[in-house]
Amino acid sequence: MQEQNPPRKAEKLLAVKGMNDILPPDSALWETFEDRVRQLMRRYAFENIRTPIVEPTALFIRGLGEVTDIVEKEMYSFDDRLNGEALTLRPENTAGVVRAAVEHSLLYNSPKRLYYMGPMFRHERPQRGRYRQFHQVGAEALGFSGGEVDAELILMASALWRELGLGNVELQLNSLGQPEERNLHRAALIAYFEKNMDVLDAEAKRRLHLNPLRLLDSKNPAMQEVIEAAPKLMDFLGEASKAHLATVTAVLDANGLAYVMNPRLVRGMDYYNLTVFEFVTTELGSQGTICAGGRYDYLMEQIGGKHTPAVGWAMGVERVLELLKAGGSAIEPAPLDVYAITADAAALPEVMACIETLRRHGVTVQMHASTSEGMSSLKSQFKRADATSARFALVFGPDELANGSVTVKALRDASIPQRLHSLGELSVLAESLQSHA
Ligand code: ATP
Ligand code: MG
Repeated sequence: MQEQNPPRKAEKLLAVKGMNDILPPDSALWETFEDRVRQLMRRYAFENIRTPIVEPTALFIRGLGEVTDIVEKEMYSFDDRLNGEALTLRPENTAGVVRAAVEHSLLYNSPKRLYYMGPMFRHERPQRGRYRQFHQVGAEALGFSGGEVDAELILMASALWRELGLGNVELQLNSLGQPEERNLHRAALIAYFEKNMDVLDAEAKRRLHLNPLRLLDSKNPAMQEVIEAAPKLMDFLGEASKAHLATVTAVLDANGLAYVMNPRLVRGMDYYNLTVFEFVTTELGSQGTICAGGRYDYLMEQIGGKHTPAVGWAMGVERVLELLKAGGSAIEPAPLDVYAITADAAALPEVMACIETLRRHGVTVQMHASTSEGMSSLKSQFKRADATSARFALVFGPDELANGSVTVKALRDASIPQRLHSLGELSVLAESLQSHA
């Protein structure tokens, strides 16, 4: 009979460019961050919403606007061959949340404060702080028209910076006014840029008559001077728009939250009106915006609902975490209580019954498991224990098991003496393992 060949080693497959695996220990930072976000949202009475990652392509074209970076060049769009639907991996989630709110009449009896977290997809050039799959936390307040809710959202984001220990985050603020005001400004912008045609790049020329506001968002250094001197939307605002902005700034002032008015802040999507804002840091190079948002009073009707005022923001999780790490900021994951060491694999059933009881009492336990060679030596098990965050090693040796006890050894605090603990009193043991005294 022919000997069987071992399976040939296959070629290594890698993740899609610009899409990252989030691995331990980094993933612990993500989880801690997500916990903080959930606590924050609860304090501000925002409820969680989870919408699909894939939406009909038309939602984004209609919602974000045809002449935007996202829709023109960044979307992962595809045809579902099985039923010929045009679909897109969500590049952002405001449109999806609004779609869901309309579809399920979520606002039928009251406005809603909602939040989400999850992956978004944009086909951009990968670089620091810019990925093709990235994550956002987003907050959307649907059905609110007053500027105080714009301000509440801003206060909520800055509360998070405070709690995470992030300094050096600047709040930039602007008003995009209402559509009629924007039309006046638009005409002035077109006239102005037409006089400066020689400075415009090809994209700016193409967009000039389609969506001149987008020119203000250009990152082309050669155009910055002309953009700087362009007509400012602020000068076209009517009384009501100015009053809305004044409400926002009054709340910020009353809370001692500093901001910088940035008349060039226009944001990348067409759905915004009135308040827009960004939280910007200088510490992440050119990818300095960690959170951005504004009011979008016309989006709901744009996608088939009835007119409903709304405001929200989205935060780039990768950028916030990178900022945290750069600042050496201390959001430490909780340490393990126990690393369980067992001398002999034959004792594992009994040991695991003890460990399960401890876990039932809330103790966090990492168990040393056997390999194809059986249990490793006590010495190497201790070495493993030391490499974890565990505060105690529980040693289940033959002597301990024979007399119904376990040795408790502190791994980080030499002042705690080693002691023997009876297995008959596991709830007492559980309590002492969790007490941080
Ligand atoms: P930028 O000007 O940096 O391209 P944007 O205006 O396109 O940002 P938004 O659509 O407002 O960004 O998204 C909100 C936040 O999401 C951004 O401020 C940023 O923190 C984050 N973000 C956006 N695109 C990416 C990306 N490709 N990779 C990582 N984070 C991103
Ligand atoms: Mg972008």
